[in-house]
Amino acid sequence: NRTPLMAGNWKMNLDHLEANHLIQGLAMELKDHDHDYSKCEVVVIPPFTDLRTVQTVVEADSLSIKYGAQDVSIHDNGAYTGEISTAMLDKLGVTHVVMGHSERREYHGESDELVGAKARKALDAGMTPILCCGEALEVRKAGTHVEFVLGQIRAALAGWAAEDVAKIVIAYEPIWAIGTGETATAADAQEVCSAIREALRADFGEETAEATRILYGGSAKPDNIKELMAQADVDGALIGGASLKAESFAAMARFY
Ligand code: 13P
Repeated sequence: NRTPLMAGNWKMNLDHLEANHLIQGLAMELKDHDHDYSKCEVVVIPPFTDLRTVQTVVEADSLSIKYGAQDVSIHDNGAYTGEISTAMLDKLGVTHVVMGHSERREYHGESDELVGAKARKALDAGMTPILCCGEALEVRKAGTHVEFVLGQIRAALAGWAAEDVAKIVIAYEPIWAIGTGETATAADAQEVCSAIREALRADFGEETAEATRILYGGSAKPDNIKELMAQADVDGALIGGASLKAESFAAMARFY
């Protein structure tokens, strides 16, 4: 009874005019196909500079599409040049926040502890954290990917209460599958997603393990979405490239 979630991470793509075009196109596609949002929640995650535009379209047309931010500051306000606070996001109607994406871990040196603090910050502000994890190719080749990913999650969620963990979304994104066209097989995705759920069960109990949504990300596209979504522990997808086209993203949201 976990509601599937299809989230489109636009990364550093689309200015606000292009964002306007995509969100309108997406709304149209979903409406044309009578999308049932109770069967699949749809979230777009644009760059900060597009959020106001997305908010305007969503509110004007009373859309059921939700939208999130790609990152957030752990600070409330003040001398933190370049950062964006939860209060700023809240004012723009943001409901979801991504943290710990491998691109931020790699290019901005973000640690598990920082990622955990960002998740806490978003949750405290009433938003849904989308906590990303995933191993590099070397780790996968060494066969220690499950251990590695569980280590990332356990470090980020250390000391958390079970009822808080139940409110977050975890996104498993093997780095070797991101933007490479090399999708993990559905079995690869299921292996790690089920190991994550097992770890949540061990650390936070049955109820939390059953409630927490776990997404797969990495070259997910209309062609492979059905098979990925058929896996017992895959509750949705975090989609990069294929979320930049209204038709492909809408088609994925209609996997059911
Ligand atoms: P791609 O779907 O482009 O591989 O990106 C996945 C991703 O990193 C989403 O956050």
